[in-house]
Amino acid sequence: MFEVKRLYDSLPYETEFEAEVLACEPDSDKEGICIVVLNQTLFFPEEGGQSPDKGMINGCEVLDVQIKDGVIYHALSGELAVGSRVEGRIDWTHRFNNMQQHSGEHIFSGLVNKHFGYDNVGFHLSDQTVTMDFNGVLSEEDVTMIELEVNRVIVKNVPIVATFPTKEELEKLEYRSKKEINEQMRIVTIEGVDVCACCAPHVRTTGEIGMLKVVGCQNYKGGVRISILCGFRALEDYKSKTAIVAGLVAGLSEKPENVITAVDKLKEVNYNLKTELNKKTAELMAVKMSALSADGDDVLVFEAELDDNATRNTVNSLMEQYSGVCAVFVGNDEAGYRFIMGSKSKNCREVLAKLKEKLTIRGGGTEVMVQGMVTGTEDAIRKSFDGGLI
Ligand SMILES: [Zn+2]
Repeated sequence: MFEVKRLYDSLPYETEFEAEVLACEPDSDKEGICIVVLNQTLFFPEEGGQSPDKGMINGCEVLDVQIKDGVIYHALSGELAVGSRVEGRIDWTHRFNNMQQHSGEHIFSGLVNKHFGYDNVGFHLSDQTVTMDFNGVLSEEDVTMIELEVNRVIVKNVPIVATFPTKEELEKLEYRSKKEINEQMRIVTIEGVDVCACCAPHVRTTGEIGMLKVVGCQNYKGGVRISILCGFRALEDYKSKTAIVAGLVAGLSEKPENVITAVDKLKEVNYNLKTELNKKTAELMAVKMSALSADGDDVLVFEAELDDNATRNTVNSLMEQYSGVCAVFVGNDEAGYRFIMGSKSKNCREVLAKLKEKLTIRGGGTEVMVQGMVTGTEDAIRKSFDGGLI
């Protein structure tokens, strides 16, 4: 068993370190990747719901960091000589960003626990999202209240301290995330706000979190899942949302505060236009159908544009007038045609099977009605119906 010193425990602000290579084996799953164990590391592994640190070791990229039975395994883009001294450097931008999110999460979870007694039962910190699952329901007002209180704690610039209490000290301590583990417990204390067992690096004082913004709240497994963004991630989000609002303001020629009403109005206008268009289309199709020749019992209609609803309605109307196959093809010779076919007297699935012998066609349905897509010209499609298919 390897002894690996976790430098990030006590040195969360260090970015460079030296270490000895204890092991280096090729990854059994991925070609060109080596799994490396060092005697000490600044790389925080994927643990407690948090994504691992990124960075370089001796010019090789660190692609993943995992911990198993206390041993930290670095997945590297190259090989290192066992017994050699190496230099590692973590990606500080990525790490500090994670520290901001994680410290923000502790304050939020601590305050939810204090005010409502709920526990954070699921924490995920990826490069894209930060979510916390609580085992109780929070209303919108509750979430807004906690969000404001978190930001007040941030502004107070309270120290965040990690300690390793003795077993006796732990027994007297009130803290969150109690787990029965044999390992030395690491306790992260945010003065006057929260005490929690945690293995991850944190910022020194709450002020470094910058700010915390709740960006989502949904019901989840009898409780709620809250999405947050802290620090620079919150700034990035503000930047992108400002751009979205600016785009809407320009596109709608409205003030930001009127954008939602303007979109609602557009939706209403659009709905009314669509209803009117459907009515006109139905009228137009009725005129076209009355002009169809009544020779033979199969009837084929070709249209350049018609939505699915109008196509179906047209087929239904045709079936009232014609006893054979009533088919409506929508499209053009180059792109092909969507179609719906119906018949009161003929088995449409059999008709489709016959057409498949003559055309490149796919589709399916019932004996009364089938739909699908056909590649080919109007001429070729009409010809394949010559003389009746069945
Ligand atoms: Zn934590």
